[in-house]
Amino acid sequence: MKIILATSNKHKLLELKELLNEFEIYSFDEFLEPFHIEENGKSFKENALIKARSIFTRLNSKDEFVVMSDDSGISVDILDGAPGIYSARFSKEGNDKSNRQKLIDSLKSKGAVKSKAHYTSAIALICKHGEFTTCGKMYGEVICEERGENGFGYDSIFIPLNYTKTLAQLPDSEKNSISHRFKALQRAKLILKILDKN
Ligand code: IMP
Repeated sequence: MKIILATSNKHKLLELKELLNEFEIYSFDEFLEPFHIEENGKSFKENALIKARSIFTRLNSKDEFVVMSDDSGISVDILDGAPGIYSARFSKEGNDKSNRQKLIDSLKSKGAVKSKAHYTSAIALICKHGEFTTCGKMYGEVICEERGENGFGYDSIFIPLNYTKTLAQLPDSEKNSISHRFKALQRAKLILKILDKN
């Protein structure tokens, strides 16, 4: 089955392609010119649906395909769940480095050097049979110093539960066996298998 991924985030694309290696995967920009998607939902799930719908409606619906999107982010307990759905645009500059720095500064301004936190991934699947969503979480803690070079986003300041290293210090294969995206995709794959039979 052809899966069209509704993301242009290179790191996410790589992770999703790795985790979906049994499927035929394309990125939406192989079919469509780049365009802006207003992510104005109130939850990861709503934003995932907004992204997938905006791609699905622009593609030729006579073809057999599933559009898949991921909306994800990190929620930090001591910051009352921030940055949450605003993870990609937490800092003014909105890049990974400045977002991490803002998170570190926010912890320090609370007098903390770490806090419990979790990542969430919401996956939306849209095809001619309907709309489906799944969700996965990874729990752990954020720390006030960067460690490691792998991954992206907040990985160098996030230590998964029962680990001593940050995600950026772990091999990609290890992250991909415990991550929020992996868990959401495991659930999405059950739906894809049913769709594939129809
Ligand atoms: P989205 O592309 O709008 O879903 O934004 C996702 C943002 O959440 C990314 O830009 C990262 O800041 C953060 N994020 C989501 N998943 C991960 C992950 O696996 N590692 C690190 N940061 C992540």
